[in-house]
Amino acid sequence: MTRALAEGFPGAHCELDFSTPLELVVATVLSAQCTDKRVNEVTPALFAKYRTAKDYAGADRTELEELIRPTGFYRNKATSLLGLGAALVERFDGEVPGRLEDLVTLPGIGRKTANVVLGDAFGVPGITVDTHFGRLVRRWGWTAEEDPVKVEHAIGELIPRKEWTLLSHRVIFHGRRVCHARKPACGACFLAKECPSFGTGPVDPQEAAKLVKGEETDHLLAFAEQVRAGGGATR
Ligand code: SF4
Repeated sequence: MTRALAEGFPGAHCELDFSTPLELVVATVLSAQCTDKRVNEVTPALFAKYRTAKDYAGADRTELEELIRPTGFYRNKATSLLGLGAALVERFDGEVPGRLEDLVTLPGIGRKTANVVLGDAFGVPGITVDTHFGRLVRRWGWTAEEDPVKVEHAIGELIPRKEWTLLSHRVIFHGRRVCHARKPACGACFLAKECPSFGTGPVDPQEAAKLVKGEETDHLLAFAEQVRAGGGATR
């Protein structure tokens, strides 16, 4: 299945736009309860105005809130960003730390966010257990755990460490585009032959094809068809 995921999503990556670890931390804080697309609409103006941790620490709350308002929960998120800037300045010389145990001490940064930052900004392998990742690995029977930290450890035992970050992106891509929470596109899924949860969603290929989302849709449908016909990566 991991090979099929690699073939299905050769370009899987973090869908938040960023160019520095600080920008990625800020973007992940904003991504709580919000789509990455919406975050990416907001961050260019935000990153242009606030370039350093000190800029966030000293930000005018009203201006900051106004800029991030479209991402929702903007008051809480502004509190996190102000606190984040202050904590980075006070404890880490204004730099984003590259260790999980330090990252999780920062305001607004949970374990999930910390793993995203480690994997994508520092190249340290990390497993990102978001709602998609947890749902899919349970559907595949890779683990029965519900608790994200337990899921992270269980999958970490199954998958070589160097593959953690890319696997996380690929699983999350599959969850966003094919294996939806309510109506997964089982009939148009390239994992259909392997998946113990096949049938959770529509199995008719044409009906299921309508549920597949995203710009890779043509590739995903063609790959699923190829696997159905007996070719393609299936382990
Ligand atoms: S077969 Fe269905 S449940 Fe299994 S991964 Fe594909 S879409 Fe998800």
